[in-house]
Amino acid sequence: MRLSKYFLPVLKENPSEAQIVSHRLMLRAGMIKQSSAGIYSWLPLGFKVLRKLEELVHEEQISAGHIPMLMPTIQSADLWRESGRYEAYGHEMLRVKDRHKREMLYGPTNEELITDIFRTHVGSYKDLPMTLYHIQWKFRDEIRPRFGVMRGREFFMKDGYNFDIDFESALHSYNRHFVSYLRTYERMGLQALPMRAESGPIGGENTHEFLVLAETGESEVFYDSAIADLRIADRKVDYKNWDDCAMILKEWTTPYARTVETHDEALFSQIPEERQRKSRGIEVGQIFYFGTKYSEAMDAKVVTESGEGVPVHMGSHGIGVSRLVGAIIEASHDENGIIWPESVTPFHCGIVNLKQGDEETDSVCDTLYRGLRVLGLDPLYDDRYERAGGKFATMDLIGLPWRLTVGPRGLKNGVVELTSRSTGVSEEMPVESALQRLAEIYLKV
Ligand code: ATP
Ligand code: MG
Repeated sequence: MRLSKYFLPVLKENPSEAQIVSHRLMLRAGMIKQSSAGIYSWLPLGFKVLRKLEELVHEEQISAGHIPMLMPTIQSADLWRESGRYEAYGHEMLRVKDRHKREMLYGPTNEELITDIFRTHVGSYKDLPMTLYHIQWKFRDEIRPRFGVMRGREFFMKDGYNFDIDFESALHSYNRHFVSYLRTYERMGLQALPMRAESGPIGGENTHEFLVLAETGESEVFYDSAIADLRIADRKVDYKNWDDCAMILKEWTTPYARTVETHDEALFSQIPEERQRKSRGIEVGQIFYFGTKYSEAMDAKVVTESGEGVPVHMGSHGIGVSRLVGAIIEASHDENGIIWPESVTPFHCGIVNLKQGDEETDSVCDTLYRGLRVLGLDPLYDDRYERAGGKFATMDLIGLPWRLTVGPRGLKNGVVELTSRSTGVSEEMPVESALQRLAEIYLKV
């Protein structure tokens, strides 16, 4: 993309309405614009990041064996009456009436809808286990929407639902989600610690939240620092293997890690003092096993091998995709702006032309731009007639991991400059080597 042809409405001043750094930087970098309280338009740069996160979540879900689909945002109140949640959900649910005065709602979550789909089409143990998921907009009429996309009213969420014949099988589904979530966050360049949590209105006993540590997080958390040393890295995970998934869950749940709701001071104090951590965190996901709560209420039964009809065991699992955009920025920024992890960056590399209109710098920038695109990479070329300082400030603000700088001085020696956003280290090299380096970084070649 050439910046002169793009829509990147960056702000010079700090917007006064933003209280936390991610909100401030998302507004300043022209990623979002509030349309009403807790509801945002995703401007082109923000939309790119959102799409990247969405794609990465799909990849990890599909590799765990989960099946993507899409359910509507607007649901009928009738289904929610069956589960008893139409009244129970309270003011957080946005309720609407259609022209025939039928009661509808904007879905805050989808347990009822998916249970209805399941009971219509699935009746035998032979079809199980099965996990269906979608990534769709949700609406919760939060009493205090704030911190930009972190606590919106309309937000983008991956929600998945497992259907299993019995508790043991459902437990494997739980464990499999646990592992796939660890992998998902790690691929986003994030550390999200799984913590024992309270279940809230969805119900159920078995539940973990995944939290990104940040001072601005809304949850108070207590943990053993040993958990922060754990990594999935490039371990091969066999999602079909019950023991494999259970072992990974065990590894991550052995060190103490709990949110304030389930915190146990007596247990916490048994951790060696130098490993005790009290902090704050941003909830970026949660998994639940809730058994037959919905299948019983909504009569979703399957016939077992012995011919008996039993309510199906279920769980639900959510990732806050739009909240993650903010959470990644909270975890990765400096005083000049955002620092995107390579896996989620909106553009792979920025190109800064220090002397726009100069035949030689223009031509080298074009070569780099085309070369990167031929490699399948997505560069952002700042081809505006602007001061170098302004161009650098924009690049730092929007946080692309790599920047190529092209100026007459370097070209005299046949080199361009490649700069890392995170370390600030620059290296001079010929055009061909710069292309090769970026191919190595992004395409692992
Ligand atoms: P919270 O405790 O933050 O209100 P929740 O526990 O009610 O969230 P879940 O039902 O577990 O939310 O939804 C799954 C994920 O969706 C959460 O882990 C979070 O990342 C995201 N999420 C929930 N509410 C919001 C919101 N208002 N704005 C943005 N993301 C949200
Ligand atoms: Mg939650």
